Amino acid sequence: MTEEKLTMEELSSFCKRKGIIFQAAEIYGGLSGFFDVAPFGLNIQNNIKEIYRKELIYKREDMVEQDGSIITNPRVWKASGHLDGFGDLILTTKKTRTKLRADHFVEDELKIPTDGMKAAEIQALIVKHNLKYKGEEFEEIKDFNLLFPVRIGADESKDSIAYLRGETCQSIFPNFRLITEICRKKLPYGIMQIGKAFRNEIAPRDFLFRCREFEQLEVEYFFNPKDKFDKLTEDLLNTKFQYLSAAAQDSGSDEMREATIKELVKSKAMSDIHGYWMAIMLNLAQKEMGLSYKNLRVRQHVKTELSHYSAGTFDIDYNYPNGFKEMLGMANRTNFDLKQHQEHSGSKLEYFDEATGEKFLPHVIEPSFGIGRHLLAVLLDAYTKNEKGEIVLKLPKKLAPTKASVFPLLSKPEFIALSREIYTDLIENDIISSFDKSGSIGKRYARADEIGTPYCITIDHDSLETGIITVRDRDSAKQIKVHKDKLAETIRNLINDRIEFSSLK
Ligand code: ATP
Repeated sequence: MTEEKLTMEELSSFCKRKGIIFQAAEIYGGLSGFFDVAPFGLNIQNNIKEIYRKELIYKREDMVEQDGSIITNPRVWKASGHLDGFGDLILTTKKTRTKLRADHFVEDELKIPTDGMKAAEIQALIVKHNLKYKGEEFEEIKDFNLLFPVRIGADESKDSIAYLRGETCQSIFPNFRLITEICRKKLPYGIMQIGKAFRNEIAPRDFLFRCREFEQLEVEYFFNPKDKFDKLTEDLLNTKFQYLSAAAQDSGSDEMREATIKELVKSKAMSDIHGYWMAIMLNLAQKEMGLSYKNLRVRQHVKTELSHYSAGTFDIDYNYPNGFKEMLGMANRTNFDLKQHQEHSGSKLEYFDEATGEKFLPHVIEPSFGIGRHLLAVLLDAYTKNEKGEIVLKLPKKLAPTKASVFPLLSKPEFIALSREIYTDLIENDIISSFDKSGSIGKRYARADEIGTPYCITIDHDSLETGIITVRDRDSAKQIKVHKDKLAETIRNLINDRIEFSSLK
């Protein structure tokens, strides 16, 4: 097997061909920054979300999940700061009025980091280097707000304007007190949400990496900064990763070194709760999502790029075709959001600690990622070619869109009947499977490999007589024989790593 480094264009055409992601309404020419999740992609995405749900909600007593509305009272966005400060700087060319995102343009032209630069600094760089776009000069740089306005009801006045949410977490903060009381939660505890977010990006690009509509998974983990935190075990402390510190970036370097959570927590680069969540998310990315160590790095935000609410942010970057870029952000948002919503709504959001009698606004650590950026990373890491040059999508088995594909050797009625019986039995056992009766068995294997199906099941002459069928493993291409009555159980155990394929005869 060889690893294949794909370009974004190659990945997007693979995703189209295999029914993973389509451009939205492609027959109309699509719409920039909008995508449809196609049937196989939906299965993979659902599996990604279900694994995070299992690990972050079902397995824990200190986490709950909610699903807030996409459009909400617009005062939420005033309080959160998005109406005034959620924007990018935009450059417009004088003649053709082409719009460019100023920071990206200057970064690409001058090869310098521009994160967090103010309008005046960027304007000065444009003047100093006499930057032009295809020979055209620019108008004065402008602020551009990324929230999508929508009109509510038939009222045409200014008062009817609301917004599609720019991040999911602003549906969580206003509910903090209700959830704490009704779900009887004690600190530290977290609220997770998976849902759509919308940003009117000036220049959507790089396939699912920068879109205008995308899905986020966000965790708001609330705590009292005065309390001792006792969940950061030795195992988590020893989590290793490639690291790019703010200091290295400040000195103009992008060289990574290996670091541990222990080192960053001890040196107070991150708090213990921040370190805890970093370890949890790094471990899940590798163990459950199949992302490799070498393709992940933790990057500390430099001072100038910290968001208005953040007292420290670390990204988990993935090595995308265009280099290491943010897959997940993890900010220490302090009690900024609760404070803002308490002030703007006039409703108390404080937590009451029964043990100490203290009333306060908890702080929050926020791991947050886009499902689309995560899906890209999963696909890039899984994409390999076998010695015949055929694609084998080595998805972690739990993420595969179908777990087994059932092949009747011949299309005679008795082969089809037994194959259907086996297929139905797998489905009844909650093992999502497919049925494929066309082409040679070799062709069918190749088709299944391309979409990452871990097990192919062939029904041959012998199966009709004895009920014994052949199971072929995607990763080793080895085969074993299993009786049909034991098939569903065997497949389930294999998928959940309770048994190893090589241990079976
Ligand atoms: P960037 O700097 O790349 O614009 P950001 O720092 O603004 O991203 P956050 O506000 O931290 O992003 O959002 C959290 C996560 O949501 C990101 O880590 C990313 O995975 C995802 N995300 C943000 N913007 C987009 C987008 N336009 N398209 C797809 N995913 C996005």
